[in-house]
Amino acid sequence: MDARDLLQRVLRLEGKGYGAYKDLKGRYRFEDFELIIDKVQADPFAPPSLFRLRIFSDRAQLPAWAYANPSRQIGLENFLAWVAEKEARRLTKRLGTGKGGLILVHGPGQEMFRRTAVEVGPEGEIELRFFVGLPAAGRRILAKEARKLLLETLPLLAKALFYENLPRDLLKRFVETNEDADFLRTRLKELGLIAFVADGSILPRASGVDPRPARGAVPFKAPESLAVEVELPHRGRVRGLGIRPGVTLIVGGGFHGKSTLLRALELGVYNHVPDDGRELVVTEPSAVKIRAEDGRQITGVNISPFIGRLPFGKDTTSFSTPCASGSTSQAANIMEALEMGARVFLIDEDTSATNFMIRDARMQALISKEKEPIIPYLDRVRELYEKFGVSSILVIGGSGDYLEVADTVIAMDHYLPVDVTQRAREVVKEFPLARKREVEGPFSLPAPRRFAPQSFPRDRKGPRAKALDRILWGREQIDLGALEQLVDRDQTNAMAYALEILAERLSRGDNLPEAVSKICEEVEREGLHRLSPLPRGDLAAFRPFELAGALNRLRSLKIRHD
Ligand code: ADP
Ligand code: MG
Repeated sequence: MDARDLLQRVLRLEGKGYGAYKDLKGRYRFEDFELIIDKVQADPFAPPSLFRLRIFSDRAQLPAWAYANPSRQIGLENFLAWVAEKEARRLTKRLGTGKGGLILVHGPGQEMFRRTAVEVGPEGEIELRFFVGLPAAGRRILAKEARKLLLETLPLLAKALFYENLPRDLLKRFVETNEDADFLRTRLKELGLIAFVADGSILPRASGVDPRPARGAVPFKAPESLAVEVELPHRGRVRGLGIRPGVTLIVGGGFHGKSTLLRALELGVYNHVPDDGRELVVTEPSAVKIRAEDGRQITGVNISPFIGRLPFGKDTTSFSTPCASGSTSQAANIMEALEMGARVFLIDEDTSATNFMIRDARMQALISKEKEPIIPYLDRVRELYEKFGVSSILVIGGSGDYLEVADTVIAMDHYLPVDVTQRAREVVKEFPLARKREVEGPFSLPAPRRFAPQSFPRDRKGPRAKALDRILWGREQIDLGALEQLVDRDQTNAMAYALEILAERLSRGDNLPEAVSKICEEVEREGLHRLSPLPRGDLAAFRPFELAGALNRLRSLKIRHD
């Protein structure tokens, strides 16, 4: 079918009830592209209809260098999604009832990862997936408006993605920025680093709710003793702070930029869009932010390396609770991340449970060890690194006992890092530690868990994202607020679909890390669109840690006993 067939169909809809829009489902060949209507909304207020535009490569004319490897391709796709989102917003003329007239593309925020909004094929063809609100007055179809939208406006959206109409300098910057960041992340290991923060980076954000860069911020500059230089494919030679494996402290006075640096490192597992300020802040991919999360559900987690005998002899080698304390939640977050293969922990004193982090000499004297089940992180942090190669980067403003266990100490001073490692060593000598180390048994890594099939809600609709930090599954709500490295609502959408597949695998007896990595590998190999039954433009790539994190917070989760 072609554009004329679509026109015929639309004209026949005049004055009919909204349900008649269903006739539009199908594929229509236009001059420059194919229009595919995958799903038509049931009424004007329902979630908008699922549309695709497949723009032919000889019309798009994308230059081959811009998608010559996966890094460039992802940069290009994010750029095209960004352009399409803006263009769609410009072309949207809301009319009639409900979502009528809406054209919506899910472009990138500050981070770039694979997203289903745009996919560039091997020959340079573009598939744009987006949402359209078909127009109506009440429940009556507005056919003239629909005709204009489908036959005049959508072709303009397609044309906006032709190379000749794109801002080419910016295209180049998206592609190069993404490739440089990927390159830098893969080089980390050879450089002997777990993170890198380039000189000139702008770390602070405009506000707590606005992730764009702050204006007038102090640009980052590495101290000479911790500076590393690296040659990037596009940017050339870059200097910056190199963070080595081991235990790194970020210290300094309040409001001097400690948490801002840590936040940038948390998000350094992702690439950033040009002009974000953190394009060359790059962290090892398995770095996991850990925080306290009292009230969370814990299911069968071995927290015994951190929590010994609980009151009334409650077992901590397979610990479950519907309502964790600050310290048990932080211990569980660590053990769950280790189960998934985390190699770096990022911890901010601001969001930690104090008694999980430290127990000082006076408190040890007052409360005997028999009455304190917690083995503080302070007493495990070196063991984690020396035995398992798991590094920690910790923001510490209050607890000088940590100087004892640090390999590197970075002080933030008026938003600039200073290497105070030597001075910290002297301080440790001047003020010897009065506290005792509180370790009982050796730290052992947790065994992968298996879950019972009755863990998972039986609901026809399956899990669905309701917000960045919330997934609804039947009557179960999963609260993802503590997964601070989840940044894009489209990641949550994708994770919701993935959860259903994960539940199937787990029900068949796979253990958690096994099941999660299989899903992530499949997505990597076959694409994100594999997750949803219909192609849709609101899915984005997520990490194994966040998918497992969502499952771990399912309140109906039960350990398998066999
Ligand atoms: P800390 O954790 O040391 O108390 P924060 O990281 O929370 O400090 O930073 C305190 C304030 O300073 C925040 O409002 C933050 O946005 C701002 N800030 C952080 N880094 C910079 C910088 N490089 N230039 C300007 N302002 C900054
Ligand atoms: Mg802080």
